[in-house]
Amino acid sequence: MAGLCGTDYGIWSGDRPVAYPLVPGHEFVGHVAAVGAGVTRVRVGDHVAVEPNYSCGACPLCREGNRNLCLARTAVGIDVDGCFAEVARVPERCCWPAPTGVDDEELLLTEPLAVVVRAVARAAVRPGESSAVVGGGTLGLLALQVLQERGARVLVVSRSSRRFELARELGAAATHAVGDGAVAASAAAFSGREGVDVVIETAGTPEAVTHALALVRPGGRVVLTGLPHEPTPVTFFSVVRREVTIAGSMIYQDEFPDAMRLVAAGTVRTRPLITHWFGLDAIGEAFAAHRQPESIKVAVRTA
Ligand SMILES: [Zn+2]
Ligand SMILES: [Zn+2]
Repeated sequence: MAGLCGTDYGIWSGDRPVAYPLVPGHEFVGHVAAVGAGVTRVRVGDHVAVEPNYSCGACPLCREGNRNLCLARTAVGIDVDGCFAEVARVPERCCWPAPTGVDDEELLLTEPLAVVVRAVARAAVRPGESSAVVGGGTLGLLALQVLQERGARVLVVSRSSRRFELARELGAAATHAVGDGAVAASAAAFSGREGVDVVIETAGTPEAVTHALALVRPGGRVVLTGLPHEPTPVTFFSVVRREVTIAGSMIYQDEFPDAMRLVAAGTVRTRPLITHWFGLDAIGEAFAAHRQPESIKVAVRTA
């Protein structure tokens, strides 16, 4: 089974062109149907979550462990055929055996979860800190749960209040809809000081970056996981004056096992985020559902 995300939509619509024809899809779990010669990490029949990126393994970045930054990285479903198909072919090092007793459905969001596990680690969150998540989509609702697990109190900031009930169910201590007053005032009220200690930005728009910088306190940390493609205005005077640390966080390095552990332990709940299911033969409807405001994660059963 596969999850559908904004990247897939962009490839499908043509907004994010790739070398067509291409089978998109990069968030998936499944069982191993066949292995090549010399494969030792997995066996036929194993249940695995797939890490859909692999690096060259030879460049200085790879050798120092920064394989997510490798300039020759291959992204499954973007550079090579992906998972909106009955079968997909990936290197064995991309396959992470599923913990026993955990349903594939629960593991379906391992890929986006690994993204936020890394982002929260980059923020070096300490227990008792105040935090804000910008964005109420899949990444935001996962980041909220990981922050909580690290002992932080979480304010969820989103353009719409549609997801706030679910956010609270998943542990958000407070919510703020953009437009209902200044986000900075909301962060001050929530933290009881000049702003929150940590902000995780997940929306990937220039507006979200602006909000992240407005939410954080002087001396605080902002981690950006979204990829705004438009030029993004940042008032660097205020970054310097307030000694704000801004860090980028790009996909994941070694976070897949951690992400699966969080799901297996029940610490992160993924099922409430999957709002739609379609068969592979209804993939067009799945893409249409992704555009509906009420959908969070649209999933596809490929077999
Ligand atoms: Zn994705
Ligand atoms: Zn490399």
